[in-house]
Amino acid sequence: MKSLGYAAQSKTSPLAPFHFDRREPGPKDVVVAIDYCGICHSDIHQVRDEWGGSLYPMVPGHEIVGHVTAVGSDVHTFKVGDLAGVGVTVETCMVCENCKAGAEPYCMRGMVGTYNAKDYAGNLTYGGYSDCIVAPEHYVYSISPKLDLAAVAPLLCAGITTWSPLRHWKVDKNSRVGVVGLGGLGHMALKFAHSLGAYTVQYTTSEGKRNDALKLGADEVVLSKDPEAMAKHAGSLDFIVDCVSAPHDIDAYLSQLRLNGSLCLVGLPDQPVAASPFALVTNRRSLCGSMIGGMKETQEMLDYCADHTIVADIELIGYDKLPEAYDRVVKGDVKYRFVLDGKTLKG
Ligand code: NAP
Ligand code: ZN
Repeated sequence: MKSLGYAAQSKTSPLAPFHFDRREPGPKDVVVAIDYCGICHSDIHQVRDEWGGSLYPMVPGHEIVGHVTAVGSDVHTFKVGDLAGVGVTVETCMVCENCKAGAEPYCMRGMVGTYNAKDYAGNLTYGGYSDCIVAPEHYVYSISPKLDLAAVAPLLCAGITTWSPLRHWKVDKNSRVGVVGLGGLGHMALKFAHSLGAYTVQYTTSEGKRNDALKLGADEVVLSKDPEAMAKHAGSLDFIVDCVSAPHDIDAYLSQLRLNGSLCLVGLPDQPVAASPFALVTNRRSLCGSMIGGMKETQEMLDYCADHTIVADIELIGYDKLPEAYDRVVKGDVKYRFVLDGKTLKG
């Protein structure tokens, strides 16, 4: 299939229009015409090869929503015209114990990312900064027409990546939850923790985001650069979702956990984290991590969002604004997710 997208040809070249071929859809595939695609900080890490091993040409984008334009003969849950989403995963082995348990991101053969990956047939995958995508039905989600479609796009990565740990660590109305970093992931973590009934504390380096954090559901906002404010909350939280994209002081957040509390990293800075053993043994704390989420729990998250009218707060932009958007994301200056408008994609 002939496709048009925006690609980076190397870690230093700007994203530019790119014509390429996608595989022809097979019997189990769904073809989705892309109406909107969110800009995740992971796109920037990978375009700039900050994690190493990037594959070019790279068409980023894994927060994809649109409508179905074709389905294979074995596809049962979608028909032409349906709204549909594709997230971070497009192939897994489906037979290992993790896949069978619905934990496909942890597939023991290795999950295939929507872009910057090779599928099991050895072909480079291309993401959602493009006009369409072909994906097996198992990795395509149903989207409710009740929600603003552009604002649903970020749920496919920022949404599920924060929903999954909150559910896994059983956050509910009895929990005291911290969210570190008010960006794309952070603002979804805040909305979900609040919606699940938890007492929620937002940590930010940006004083200017305080009022937004309160509006988004925070019970309290802590400026993490203020040692007095940090000391006041020491030993008070059960669970923290750390959504920060750059290296930062982990011990400062471990100190906020009470007995048996866990600090879950979802942010992926390009440097190892250093944690003091004393910060961990105090209060029997755990340091853990979580990667996106399984297919079934992603659909459950989307259905929960439809029932509770939860979407991302977005800035809708055209493809011509991509370089500026990347710079602003890196500066922490986005409220709170950029979404590309597919109508502005031109070759
Ligand atoms: P984002 O929108 O850029 O948000 C990151 C936030 O971190 C910023 O808004 C800022 O919040 C804070 N921050 C940035 N630089 C900082 C610094 N030097 N020190 C302290 N705080 C800083 O990014 P995102 O799209 O939410 O992604 C966040 C991270 O999650 C990225 O590393 C991304 O690759 C990763 N990620 C992981 C998964 C997974 O499966 N685990 C999935 C998707 C993304 P304040 O202004 O409030 O301080
Ligand atoms: Zn992402």
